[in-house]
Amino acid sequence: MSPPSTTLAIANQKGGVAKTTSVASIGAALAELGHAVLLVDLDPQACLTFSLGIDPEDLELSVHQVLTKGLDPTEVIVETDDGVSLLPATIELARAEADLLTRTGREHVLRSMLEDLAAKGVHFDWILLDCPPSLGVLTVAALTAADGVLIPLQCETLSHRGVGQLLDTVHDVRRFTNRELEVWGVLPTLYDGRTTHARTVLETISETYDLEVVEPPIPKTIKFAEAPAAGRSILSTSRSSKGAAAYRQVAANLVTRAAR
Ligand code: ADP
Ligand code: MG
Repeated sequence: MSPPSTTLAIANQKGGVAKTTSVASIGAALAELGHAVLLVDLDPQACLTFSLGIDPEDLELSVHQVLTKGLDPTEVIVETDDGVSLLPATIELARAEADLLTRTGREHVLRSMLEDLAAKGVHFDWILLDCPPSLGVLTVAALTAADGVLIPLQCETLSHRGVGQLLDTVHDVRRFTNRELEVWGVLPTLYDGRTTHARTVLETISETYDLEVVEPPIPKTIKFAEAPAAGRSILSTSRSSKGAAAYRQVAANLVTRAAR
């Protein structure tokens, strides 16, 4: 029997809430802990790919061909300087929504791909799925492939507005394509703990939607702006920063959660 593997979708249809930053940073932190990690870029903007030092424009093949043409993912997966494996995206992925829309089993494309990978003996302890800012085919495919979903949330007044909609989608996925999907909770990002406002918003959201809060909140710091240009996550570019420490702690808490 192969060792257990945990697949987490990092999803929120709102852009700019640190989905991609969280995938890169949690992935790097899990790799530091000795886990084999695969990150999957499901956003046609390819920000995850770019921020891990790979120029999407240099790629001929990407997750797009894997999902729409059944290309073997091992032909596309690349190793990054952060010690994680990456299934990269390119702008071509923008066509995937349309290409998949008329296909039978489209919700299952990612799940099947990961099952094929495991069947070939390619093992990852963690697979993190970086979802695009929409609730379209790719996000639904990610939720269908996942054991859990983590919802990065910027603690501002209007940030809860999309959460209900996302949870409705999770509910549908549970009903129709993935009964096992669990909501692992919200991850407070871009957090300014000095303001009582941020804390109040966080409490309101977790109570309103009955969601766990994954600790600790990720502080808002300028260091995050510098990492993508360096092609490494904040765990390498700013090793001892508060942001890196917070993501390391989140990763350790996720490992505990997975073992439960
Ligand atoms: P998403 O994937 O949800 O669209 P990103 O991860 O791309 O969000 O983050 C959006 C922007 O916020 C990026 O410019 C990123 O560098 C910045 N950012 C992310 N986390 C933090 C943080 N903790 N502090 C400051 N800036 C951050
Ligand atoms: Mg993103």
